[in-house]
Amino acid sequence: MANNNINIHEKLHAIFIAYPLQGHLIPSVHLAIKLASQGFTITYINTLSVHNQTSKAQSHTAGDKNDDIFASVRKSAGLDIRYTTVSDGLPVDFDRSLNHDTFMAALVHVFSAHVEEVVGDIVGSSSKNTPPVTCLIADTFFVWPSKVAKKFGLLYVSYWTEPALVFTLYYHLHLLRNNGHFACPDVREDSINYIPGIKSIEPKDMTSYLQDSDTSSICHQLIFKAFNDVRGADFVLCNTIQELERDTISALQNDMSFYAIGPIFPIGFAKSSVATSLWSQSDCNHWLNSKPNGSVLYVSFGSYAHLSKQDLVEIANGLSSSNVSFVWVLRPDIVSSDDVDPLPVGFREEVGDRSMIIPWCSQIEVLAHRAIGGFLTHCGWNSILESIRCEVPLLCFPLLTDQFTNRKLVVDDWKVGINLSNETSVNEKEVSDNISRLMGGKLGNDCRKAIKELRMIMDNSLTPNGSSNRNLDQFIKDLKTRTRAA
Ligand code: UDP
Repeated sequence: MANNNINIHEKLHAIFIAYPLQGHLIPSVHLAIKLASQGFTITYINTLSVHNQTSKAQSHTAGDKNDDIFASVRKSAGLDIRYTTVSDGLPVDFDRSLNHDTFMAALVHVFSAHVEEVVGDIVGSSSKNTPPVTCLIADTFFVWPSKVAKKFGLLYVSYWTEPALVFTLYYHLHLLRNNGHFACPDVREDSINYIPGIKSIEPKDMTSYLQDSDTSSICHQLIFKAFNDVRGADFVLCNTIQELERDTISALQNDMSFYAIGPIFPIGFAKSSVATSLWSQSDCNHWLNSKPNGSVLYVSFGSYAHLSKQDLVEIANGLSSSNVSFVWVLRPDIVSSDDVDPLPVGFREEVGDRSMIIPWCSQIEVLAHRAIGGFLTHCGWNSILESIRCEVPLLCFPLLTDQFTNRKLVVDDWKVGINLSNETSVNEKEVSDNISRLMGGKLGNDCRKAIKELRMIMDNSLTPNGSSNRNLDQFIKDLKTRTRAA
């Protein structure tokens, strides 16, 4: 295969495919840039749908529609990133939020055929200016990368954009099943203490899919297949920090080449120069500039999860009675794209100038603003890493998927946040009481102190000799060794 040429080119060429969801796209684009700045040639494959949506979002703010999202960074930093698009199997304008299961089914059943074709074309196109492809870097949630990589003689690098704790729970699904904690008629409710590297975890802290009694959904099929496929990965890169998940990572390293290389952020933690936002971003700076330091609560439930109408109303009423100023990212599909203005009647007038309610923003810019003092969050992993980076303590209301497990890390293990509720739904009083606790109470101050320490750990991991950089260097070394041996 093409690796015969590696000594001539001595250049690693990776095909990179991100999962087409906002929370996967952002850390994938920035890992692609990071690897390119380490000398990789990257061929980045985007889905047509994501390409169109990010271009459309950008044209609303910047007035410019770009055919290649990496054009600016390639020019300014001289990086070798090539770019191409592929269909995810559905029409570009299909409402993927409203028809979530159809979208996931297309990714499981149709996408691989499209990808195979493009990967084949790229592998076959090596030339003087195109080094031979050495590896396929793809999101762990895809169900096909190890097969596609094998077909074209490439090494498979699996990219996991959630904490190692979540990876290891899915990876040890057979243990959960055999011990009666998953997919059994009488599921056990006691602590789980047999997963390598996890001292103990409660069933309620597992990902939502591992708590479901019906395991026939498309998301379950996707997880089962993906974690079967990842067993064929040559390397796993994880967007986490070694010092924060040391035992879990060490245990995984007994089984596989697993590297903690996070946090992956845009260069300088500034607004991304590559179009990664799926929606156009409202500018909050002017409004935030008028607010005192640490006085504003930032509220966002990420890009993907939905709130029930009842929880949304309780949260709105709680925000209203808290008297705290807030920026609320209210995606038009937060309840459903069928219900585009789900706020209680009169709410906007009631909260007036103490609120800024917007459909989307540059979250890292908002979190980094001196006026932000707390983050009411669904506990998406990127949001948590960004909040640590900005030393903003968290008020946690997990809704779906890994968010329950992420909450455990934030509240129980690291103590940098508090729960919005101890139940799966909320009421107005809990919301307003917990906002006061986070923004002004002793508990909030304790979290603020603890998050400063995590920020230091994060900063250290990113120094030239810090764990994340050392792990990335080691990965590149190991990849080169394997490539030469191929
Ligand atoms: N985000 C953003 N603007 C917003 C809300 C979110 O740019 O108004 C970004 C946020 O900075 C993060 C990503 O979208 O990088 C969301 O990822 P996360 O893992 O937190 O949650 P998900 O959307 O995957 O549930």
